[in-house]
Amino acid sequence: MLNFNLSPEQLKVQKQARTFALNEVLPVAWHYDEKDEIPLFVLKKAFSAGLMNTDIPAQYGGKGFGILEGALITEEVAAACPGLATSIFDNSLGMEPIILSQNEKLKTKYLGEIRKNFKLICFATSEPVMGSDVSGIRCQAKADGAYFVLNGTKYWITNGGIADYMTVFATIDPESQHEGICAFLIEKDWPGVSVGKPIPKLGQRCSNTVGLHFKNVRVPRENVIAPPGEGFVLAMKTFSRTRPVIGAFAVGAARSAMEYAIDYVKKRRAFGTKIVNFQAIQFKIAEMFQKVETARLLTWKAAWEADNGLDPTISASVAKLYATEAAQEVVDEALQVFGGYGYTKMFPLEKLLRDTRLFRIYEGTSEIQRVILSGFALNGYKPVMPALEDLPVLRDLDLGDDQLPEKDRNAWRCRMCGHIHYGDSAPDMCPYCFFPESAFKKIWPRQ
Ligand SMILES: Cc1cc2nc3c(=O)[nH]c(=O)nc-3n(C[C@H](O)[C@H](O)[C@H](O)COP(=O)(O)OP(=O)(O)OC[C@H]3O[C@@H](n4cnc5c(N)ncnc54)[C@H](O)[C@@H]3O)c2cc1C
Repeated sequence: MLNFNLSPEQLKVQKQARTFALNEVLPVAWHYDEKDEIPLFVLKKAFSAGLMNTDIPAQYGGKGFGILEGALITEEVAAACPGLATSIFDNSLGMEPIILSQNEKLKTKYLGEIRKNFKLICFATSEPVMGSDVSGIRCQAKADGAYFVLNGTKYWITNGGIADYMTVFATIDPESQHEGICAFLIEKDWPGVSVGKPIPKLGQRCSNTVGLHFKNVRVPRENVIAPPGEGFVLAMKTFSRTRPVIGAFAVGAARSAMEYAIDYVKKRRAFGTKIVNFQAIQFKIAEMFQKVETARLLTWKAAWEADNGLDPTISASVAKLYATEAAQEVVDEALQVFGGYGYTKMFPLEKLLRDTRLFRIYEGTSEIQRVILSGFALNGYKPVMPALEDLPVLRDLDLGDDQLPEKDRNAWRCRMCGHIHYGDSAPDMCPYCFFPESAFKKIWPRQ
């Protein structure tokens, strides 16, 4: 029962998010990008409209929406401003390790609080010296009776400067790699927590990105999200459920760039005609359209897998990799059809180009997605076709000819060059590639 129709409830939430994006996000996006400042009031409006924290499970009082509904909402908001979308939906990243954890008391307390009141929660794995290699975390947690004591620095933390709560990954021993990684929920007001200055960025300037410093921060054991040894897997499981949403960010940004381009090419004239009449321009629009559609399908597939209890890791990487790279290409081509105007701050393309660039970096760079996918394709994927040396060969015998002399009934394939030799035994040497008899495998009669 494969079905790409959205349910009436999904269409309703998509429409609500679209209205919110057009009325509340789009009008303020360029102003705050220019100011390099996060408009916190927009996040508060998203919270009041019920568009934030939609993934809190129903048993903790939340809406219990799936990743697919999250992707629908995200696409709309990201189309209006990718930076604000990053800020608004960062709570989902910060909460996911808690939702996945076994700590029921922690879930009840903090998910309940985030659902009821406007509270922000950030997610912190990255540090000044590491991002991709999560097993290389250095921020250190030392057990001390009923507490863990945290020391170290996190960097690049979205909403870190405005978040009430922090999901922080640390290690009990930096040398032990994966085995030492653990995770904690930390409150911003606890003694020893410091927030750095906002990091100046190329794009997504409506989002807040800072470093966090922890000096002898005492974390009660009740706030352990993952005990030592379980943090690495938790971080990976988190990413496989949040990466589809990064695909949705990219789809939204690419879709709006395409829509602006469609509008522009129908109005702009060159060589005595509207530029939309040039097939070269029409084909650019076709490319943009197919990339947006493909990216959305891959995003929805990954989200669907996550919502239906399958392991979405591979589909999430495919969606993140494809959608973010496609978005970069779409936005760049959209800027191109605007000509010189695309390069100015008077039209939306330059901001979209700067904002979209981040998608290929955070939550696992494009290179890391390729590491995951090549690892799977080469080692985990189960091929259907036989190995090259076992490719079937059609013989006259198959066609009912039983007149062949006995000696010609045997066939041998050279594993090096593929040559097939008929006869009692393999030749001493392949007549094509000169490899010795040992290179031949008997392929007839079939085993
Ligand atoms: C604006 C912004 C917001 C962010 N928000 C958050 C956040 O909220 N929380 C958080 O924890 N982090 C956040 N990050 C950090 C982000 O996830 C990291 O920047 C990212 O994972 C890459 O890590 P790095 O910058 O340390 O690069 P590195 O890991 O040092 O990588 C440098 C380069 O080497 C490549 N590389 C690394 N390893 C391999 C490999 N095995 N094979 C091939 N190539 C490789 C990378 O792809 C990259 O091109 C944010 C970053 C930015 C810029």
